[in-house]
Amino acid sequence: IVVAADVRKRFGSNEVLKGIDLRVPKGEVLCIIGPSGSGKSTFLRCINQLERIDGGAIWVAGELVGYRREGNFLYELTDAEIARQRRRIGMVFQRFNLFPHLTALENIIEGPVQVLGEKPAEARERAEALLARVGLADKRDAYPAHLSGGQQQRVAIARALAMRPELLLFDEPTSALDPELVGEVLGVMRDLAGTGMTMIVVTHELGFAREVSNRVAFMDQGQLVEIGDARQVLSDPQQARTRAFISAVH
Ligand code: ATP
Ligand code: MG
Repeated sequence: IVVAADVRKRFGSNEVLKGIDLRVPKGEVLCIIGPSGSGKSTFLRCINQLERIDGGAIWVAGELVGYRREGNFLYELTDAEIARQRRRIGMVFQRFNLFPHLTALENIIEGPVQVLGEKPAEARERAEALLARVGLADKRDAYPAHLSGGQQQRVAIARALAMRPELLLFDEPTSALDPELVGEVLGVMRDLAGTGMTMIVVTHELGFAREVSNRVAFMDQGQLVEIGDARQVLSDPQQARTRAFISAVH
């Protein structure tokens, strides 16, 4: 569902992505690991068009991201077309960025009603089901400030799901949480993986990567150094840089 071909991104003279090639089939859970500054977030942001790439190409669900091809020419998409493409992708960030003035339920309903044009009653019914799915049926009327970090992040996941995404991107969804709250969020993500959702997860949780993901990719200095079967990459990495990283994290 995602194809990246020689994706390049620079900030000024800093080349942050140095030619990323990757294919993620539908239903796969791919974890991306790697040191700080290696370009993991930037890569996710390029997939979701929060950043524009400087070279190469990305396709999501068969559509070229950000451009329209006519004959031999590429045209940049309009803002409306970009918004339509971005709607197919859900993203969950490290910081649970819920709307503080809306309850858990209202946070989830907002997108489906405002963006997808769903009827409020229908959106509300789905939001309640989604809250139940992330174990928060009893928190529907709570405001984010009255929820724990783990609960807020589970609402954020429900909110992403409410948009019926074809792909979910997670950028270190548990790294801002107190240790005792990490498990509940990973549990929701594990359930989600079991439903066949396609997920790309940037994480430092190697246990989660090992148990839940199909493949693990190790990124370092803007390159995908190694990608393969989760257990194999984590237990028996082929590249020295991957080995050094994994033994340092353990
Ligand atoms: P971390 O594990 O710390 O989240 P990361 O692998 O996600 O790191 P990125 O956030 O993608 O790394 O950053 C990669 C590089 O790009 C870093 O050198 C960073 O300083 C630089 N960078 C990221 N965003 C910007 C920006 N908006 N403007 C300038 N430089 C940026
Ligand atoms: Mg990052």
